[in-house]
Amino acid sequence: MTDVTLARLRDEGESFMQEISREYYLAHSGQKATAELQPIYARHAQILGPDALELTLESLRAAADGSEERRSARLLADWQAESQSARQLAPLDEREIAWEGSAVVRVGDTRQIEFERVAIEMANTTNRAERHAIEAARAKLVGRELAPMRRERFQRERDITEQLGLASGYNATFELLSGISLSDLAAQCAQFLRDTQALWDETLPEFTKRVLGVDASSVTRADALALFRAREFDGGFPASRMEESIKRQVREMGVDPVAAGRIVFDTGEREGKRSRAFCSPVRVPAEVYLVLRPHGGQSDWNTLLHELGHALHFAYMRPDLAFEYRWLGDNSITEGYAMLFDHLMQDAGWLRRYTELGGSALPAFLRSHGFQELHMVRRYSAKLIYEIALYGGQVNWDSLPQQYVEQLTAATTFRYDPADAFVDVDPRYYAARYLRAWQLQALLTETLVERYDADWWRNPRAGPWMCSALFGEGQRELAHEQAQRVAGKELSFAPIARAVEKLLG
Ligand SMILES: [Zn+2]
Repeated sequence: MTDVTLARLRDEGESFMQEISREYYLAHSGQKATAELQPIYARHAQILGPDALELTLESLRAAADGSEERRSARLLADWQAESQSARQLAPLDEREIAWEGSAVVRVGDTRQIEFERVAIEMANTTNRAERHAIEAARAKLVGRELAPMRRERFQRERDITEQLGLASGYNATFELLSGISLSDLAAQCAQFLRDTQALWDETLPEFTKRVLGVDASSVTRADALALFRAREFDGGFPASRMEESIKRQVREMGVDPVAAGRIVFDTGEREGKRSRAFCSPVRVPAEVYLVLRPHGGQSDWNTLLHELGHALHFAYMRPDLAFEYRWLGDNSITEGYAMLFDHLMQDAGWLRRYTELGGSALPAFLRSHGFQELHMVRRYSAKLIYEIALYGGQVNWDSLPQQYVEQLTAATTFRYDPADAFVDVDPRYYAARYLRAWQLQALLTETLVERYDADWWRNPRAGPWMCSALFGEGQRELAHEQAQRVAGKELSFAPIARAVEKLLG
């Protein structure tokens, strides 16, 4: 057996990540029925075993605080710790991916809906009784089949992580390896929920009445899908013009939207394609896929912008950056760039130039977007607080479904279903990355406006700056470090609360 060295870890680690990424891309885009992950783990067993983990932990312990070695070692150790659990969880993940790709929801005696299309159907169904019938059938199926798989998966992930013995418990291990303080972020989330409670209570009834024709006290999460689908604005966001308009904007910003062919847009309908869009960096920066299954209307535009932010980030990373800075690191950064782009949907000037949203529809659309933004940040704030309880080990897991329903319903007013308590959970605190990304994009937008004016998105100098100062750096920095370097500020929810208040007028 050849010795594992850091050089070999980086080298073979990159091949491993490419193979895994390609497998997920093929399965989630509907080009393969299932992802065959286990053979890939078997092929790279040596760089994913206990020796490799120990090597990265040793170099983490040896590196001086604040040094570049420590920065790199923390990323590699985090990756190794994650790989330990990912490797052991691979059979469970394969099982789940196969289930999601083939499950069918039976509504009544006559109707069958592909599981992956259920969210799209509920969002597009105008008949409320039918929407609730689909939701009831979905929740029953999920509760019976998917929820037990997910619960087992999270239990195993927590056990594996705690067995690393790096810190006392899952949460402390996450904080050590990620460089993110969960307790600080949770406190900010609780504060945001309190600060915006009155605004939420005041705004929600207006929307449920106008869009759904119902009282706010009776709405469920299925109604939320239809509400945020916001069909009334579809005319402003034609599917036929979406890709070209958005690409034109990126060109006007001085950036090639396909990065000389490194980015491939996969935006057509295909059976088995996941309903949730994604970006797959198969080789970084050389081969990046942007995958979207069309739902219709403004949400597709929003999603395409989001995934494009990721795709540009991966495709414009400096190729000479170390493996760990291109493939690993704080995903709050890449999510921050994705949100920087999807938040263009809140920019009146951008909407006027690149969409067909007419004059009078514009103020209503912006208001609707402010409402949607407030909902999402409140939902994710509650999710993070709930997930901290899930991973924290202080709560009996049998009581989690009830806690999930209470916390998520309290934050959003929409009635949640206990069947989703282990399904509506992003593994490894991805919710924390999203929340930090929200905070980061607000500061990046402010910086872009200062440097390149309010219409920075069509300033041919803005794109090249973004490529070199932001995308080029990969994920070498933590989101709060980047906020300091670029904007000279701390991450916080304050600019988001201000933006929401402004949109809601
Ligand atoms: Zn994203």
